[in-house]
Amino acid sequence: MARARVERELDLRKPVTVWRSQDLEDGRTAEALTMILRTVGCRWNRCTMCGYAGEGAPASAADLIAQFECALERSSPEVSVVKIYTSGSFLDPDEMPVEARDEILKRLEALGIKKLVIETRPEYVTAQTVEICQSRLPTEFAIGLETANDLIRENAIRKGFSFQDFTTASETVHRQGGRVKAYLLLKPPLLSEGQAMRDAIASARAARSHADILSLNLCNVQRNTLVERMWERGEFRPPWLWSALEVLKSVPGPFVCDPVGAGTRRGPHNCGECDESIAAAIRTHALSQDVAPFQSLDCQCKSTWIDLMKVEEESFGTPLF
Ligand code: SF4
Ligand SMILES: [Zn+2]
Repeated sequence: MARARVERELDLRKPVTVWRSQDLEDGRTAEALTMILRTVGCRWNRCTMCGYAGEGAPASAADLIAQFECALERSSPEVSVVKIYTSGSFLDPDEMPVEARDEILKRLEALGIKKLVIETRPEYVTAQTVEICQSRLPTEFAIGLETANDLIRENAIRKGFSFQDFTTASETVHRQGGRVKAYLLLKPPLLSEGQAMRDAIASARAARSHADILSLNLCNVQRNTLVERMWERGEFRPPWLWSALEVLKSVPGPFVCDPVGAGTRRGPHNCGECDESIAAAIRTHALSQDVAPFQSLDCQCKSTWIDLMKVEEESFGTPLF
């Protein structure tokens, strides 16, 4: 009954969404197809900023293969990179049944796709799961490290794994010739703007030698999360775009960022006047990796951002808003 009801509301044979884009791949731009498949959702489901749990539904292996085939209809011969996101872990067999995983990998190999990008928590990265992917096509394993600081990851994000778990997974991937992408989070709850910015810079430096590419995620206020409850009480403000620029400038690339939701109340934002131009510069940087254009960006709100960080420091590092 429950399954029938969900199916009426959501077609489990259709992906959540699919889009085409140009991305930076191995120093060049490449045509990419990105699909978000609807699975049962992340088994962990405890991170303070993550609202993906609300997207889960009981999709079977056959449903997931159908979603994948449906998404492939948006592909074309120019597409060389396929990214498959599940709002959880592609390598978790409870989320992505092995029949579906193997069929998808087989299809991508047959299509001659040059690179697959998947997301996974580190506990599902084993010599065997890496080999299953790598034996079909070069694969990039994207892991939500969020921060290199175990205290912040455990207490502010509730991620449930350590920096050591990440580096072990990274070694497992690299041993078999795979690539690692590390997602870093600017700004977890409970950190002031300055603390969050410094933590993201330190984390990028620490993760640099374990990851082939770094990706900075600017915290959005997602529905039904602890971050949303704090935000509603005025205890959380998404990061300033100025902070994002500082982080991207401070660590050598490849370092990409897609400022999702930039300029909205729930997304990373500055004053409203400059958000659009700064978000555009961040998107351009993701392809060019050139930080020089950041120097010419300015707005009167930049001094507010600097003053805010000073005031927060003076109030013992307590975030003000
Ligand atoms: S952030 Fe990742 S690991 Fe955490 S609950 Fe969301 S999908 Fe799961
Ligand atoms: Zn501004």
